[in-house]
Amino acid sequence: MAKEKKAKANTLSNDYGASMDRIVSLCKRRGFVYPSSEIYGGLSATWDYGPLGVELKKNIQEAWWKDMVRRHDNIVGIDAAIMMHPRTWEASGHVENFTDPLVDCKKCKTRFREDHLDEKALADKVCPECGGELTEPRQFNLMFTTHMGPVEDSGSVIYLRPETAQGIFVNFKNVVDTSRVQIPFGIAQVGKAFRNEITTKNFIFRTCEFEQMEMQYFVKPGNEDEAFDDWKSKRMAWYIDRLGISPQRLRFTEHGPDELAHYAKVAFDIEYEYPFGWQELEGVHSRTDYDLRRHGEFSGKEINYLDPADNSRFVPYVIETSSGLTRSVLVTLMDAYHEEKIGVDKKGNDDIRTVLHFHPDIAPVMVAVLPLVKKDGLAELAKKIEKDLREDFSTFYDQGGAIGRRYRRMDEIGTPFCVTVDYDSKEDETVTMRFRDSMEQIRIPIDGLAERIRREIRSYKRV
Ligand code: ATP
Repeated sequence: MAKEKKAKANTLSNDYGASMDRIVSLCKRRGFVYPSSEIYGGLSATWDYGPLGVELKKNIQEAWWKDMVRRHDNIVGIDAAIMMHPRTWEASGHVENFTDPLVDCKKCKTRFREDHLDEKALADKVCPECGGELTEPRQFNLMFTTHMGPVEDSGSVIYLRPETAQGIFVNFKNVVDTSRVQIPFGIAQVGKAFRNEITTKNFIFRTCEFEQMEMQYFVKPGNEDEAFDDWKSKRMAWYIDRLGISPQRLRFTEHGPDELAHYAKVAFDIEYEYPFGWQELEGVHSRTDYDLRRHGEFSGKEINYLDPADNSRFVPYVIETSSGLTRSVLVTLMDAYHEEKIGVDKKGNDDIRTVLHFHPDIAPVMVAVLPLVKKDGLAELAKKIEKDLREDFSTFYDQGGAIGRRYRRMDEIGTPFCVTVDYDSKEDETVTMRFRDSMEQIRIPIDGLAERIRREIRSYKRV
C-alpha cells in the first residue's frame, strides 16, 4: 500500500517533469532545503534552507525589495518585532477569528482542515484517507502563544505574529511623523510569520514558520479601486518579469462572498498551478480602513492622516499585497525545474538533463568558472577570473571531473552561465562562455567578460 502511494505521488508532475518528490529530492541533494533538525528525526512542517536555498531566498527577497522600496519613491520599509503587544491581535481580530475548522478521523486519527476536504468527504463526513468517521469540526486558533517574563500566567501570554501586516499598521503614525511620505504611500516589510497549521503537507508550501513580503498601500478613501487595480496588475507582472514564472501557470481568483473578510471590499489571490493543483501564492486585498480604525479604538490613540493638500483629515484606506517569500521559493523551483532529453547515450538510452531555468537575477550561482584541467596553469588563470567576477556576481569555482559532468551539475542548480578556461585561453586571452538554457557555447575575450554577462542578464528571455 505504501509503495503504491509513493508511485502515485511520483506521477503527480507538471509537463516539465517537476513533481513534489523530485523537487524535494533535488533540494536535499544539492543543498537548497533540508528537513529541520534532521539528526533528531526532523520536526514536521519546518525546514532549513541550505547554502543554495538561502541564496535563492535572499535573491527573491532582494528582487521584491528593489521593486517595492527602491523603485517607488513613495514606498518605505520597516522591520517590526515578531513579538508584539497582545492587544494588537485583539484589535486585528486574530484572537477571536483567526481559526480554522479542525476535524479528526476517529479511525486513523488523521487531522484535516474541514474547508480543505473535497465535496464527497464533506457530505459523507468520512475520512478521505481510510473512509473512517470524521468528528464534528472544532475551531482551532492558529496563533502560537508563548510567555514573556518568568511567570507563565495568563497575564504574560504573547503571540508569535501570524502575519507581518500588523507591524505595519501599528507603525503607521510613526512612519508618517518621521518620514516625508504623503498619501498615497506604502510601507513594506519582509519577515517571519508563524501559524500553527493543521495540515502542513507539500514541502515548504504550507509550514508553521514561514516568511512573508507584505506591502500596505495607504490611499484617500474613494481612491482605493484605482489603486487596487494598479497593484493587482503590478504584482502579477512581478512574478512573470522579475521571477521569470511562466504566465500560463499563474492566474487570479477572486474571493467569493463567503470567503471575503467582513471588512474587505474586494480580494484576489494570485494562484500558481502546483503539481497538486491551483493554490494561492499571494493575496491582493482592498481592506478599507478597518485595521487603522481598530488600532485607533483599541489603543485609544487617534490614528488618522492630515492631508497637506487640502487640510482634510481622514483614516486612510488600505490596499494590501501579501506574498509568501518561502512559497515563492517553492514556485520558483517548481517552475524552473525541467527534465530535458538532449540526446542518446552510448547504450542507446535517452540522455536526460535536469535543469533549473532560473531567471539569472535570482539564480543562487550566476557564473561558474571551470578550468578544463587543473594543471598547466589553467586552474590559476580560472581562479583569477573567478575572483574578478566575484565583485559583480555570485560565482562558483569547480575544477573536479569531466567538463560535461560539471556543466550538468551547474544545470541542476540553475547556473545560467559557465566560463571555461582551456589551453587557448593562455594564448589568446579568450574563454568559452556556455549558456545553460540553449547549451550554446561561444568564444569571447576575458577582457569585457563581466560586461558581456551583464548584457546577457539584461536581455534574458525565458525559453
Ligand atoms: P490559506 O487560506 O492557504 O491558509 P491565507 O489566505 O490565510 O492562506 P494569507 O493570510 O493571505 O494566506 O497570507 C499571505 C501569503 O502568505 C499567502 O499567499 C502565502 O503565500 C503565505 N502563507 C500563508 N500561510 C502560509 C504558510 N502556512 N506557509 C507558507 N506560506 C504561507
